[in-house]
Amino acid sequence: MSKIKSILSQVTESQNILILGHVMPDGDDISSVASLTLGLKQLDKNCLGAIDSPIPEYYKVFHGVDQLISYEEYSDFSPDLVVVLDCSSPDRVGRFESMLSQCKTIVIDHHATNTFFGGTNWVDSSYAATAQMVYTLNKALGVVYDSRLATVNYLGMATDTGFFRFSNTDERVFKDAAELVKLGAKPHFVATTILENKRIEQLKLFCVMVDHMIVEDSLAYSWLSYENYVENGCADDDSTGFVGEMRSLRNIEVAILVTEYPKGEVHVSLRSKNWFDVSKVAAVLGGGGHARAAGCSFKNTRLEKVLNEIVSTVKDHLWGERSETGEVS
Ligand code: AMP
Ligand code: MN
Ligand code: MN
Repeated sequence: MSKIKSILSQVTESQNILILGHVMPDGDDISSVASLTLGLKQLDKNCLGAIDSPIPEYYKVFHGVDQLISYEEYSDFSPDLVVVLDCSSPDRVGRFESMLSQCKTIVIDHHATNTFFGGTNWVDSSYAATAQMVYTLNKALGVVYDSRLATVNYLGMATDTGFFRFSNTDERVFKDAAELVKLGAKPHFVATTILENKRIEQLKLFCVMVDHMIVEDSLAYSWLSYENYVENGCADDDSTGFVGEMRSLRNIEVAILVTEYPKGEVHVSLRSKNWFDVSKVAAVLGGGGHARAAGCSFKNTRLEKVLNEIVSTVKDHLWGERSETGEVS
């Protein structure tokens, strides 16, 4: 609670506030940056929300999202406070990283792999979503919620819990989400916008991933090359959720999807179902995340090389650890 008090007083004392999210933003990140930016603007702060990656088009129907700016659009803003949301390490803000050493920085995050890189760090992995921490902060600041703000703040709670299915789904996230629904959040609108808004090209790309998939015991893995994306008229955010479909297979504990987009940039998405901690594997490879969902990224490399490395690292940990803990499949 003293962390929140310190954040409240720093926000109150500051006038020009920059709010940053992470590269390749997900629903929780976009929701958190938009909701805090809207909240602080309501309190007459000169406030700017920024993310150094394109924001997928379908998020732009949510209030405040089309006002978030890119790195290219950023100029002539001298913040006296920077708030970093949903980022486990400073590199996650992309090219905004140099801002962090120039300004007073507050980090608000729920990743267990957080490196505490801010001046003030409110890091609590017991929250299912950073959007809940933003909601708590906005409430403490006296921000008034209308239906549009409630909906965009609800978005992060829904997406980071896999629409209230993942193992991080607990009483508190239901309670926070229910409060937002009472304030006018629209769960059906959020669900259809995120889950039932696919292009046919995405399903074709999904077929390629299934074609490439290998299942070995409790591990499922696959890959998508840059050429696979281009041939199917897709970009990197078109494969969002694919790795979760591999995890949904019966008896699969770990799913790995290795993707290349753009050429030479390789991203690894890791998911686990019941017990294996994928964040530890991701952290060893310079990435991060949560126990059941983690990732890492590489530049100037080949997909095949990364795939071989990650699969053999996961096998070592998965089958080594299972025999240690006595788990059986
Ligand atoms: P993804 O598989 O990209 O959906 O990411 C799953 C989780 O891992 C999210 O919580 C991300 O914030 C985290 N994550 C993904 N990529 C990275 C990375 N390169 N560095 C740190 N964390 C990451
Ligand atoms: Mn995120
Ligand atoms: Mn998150």
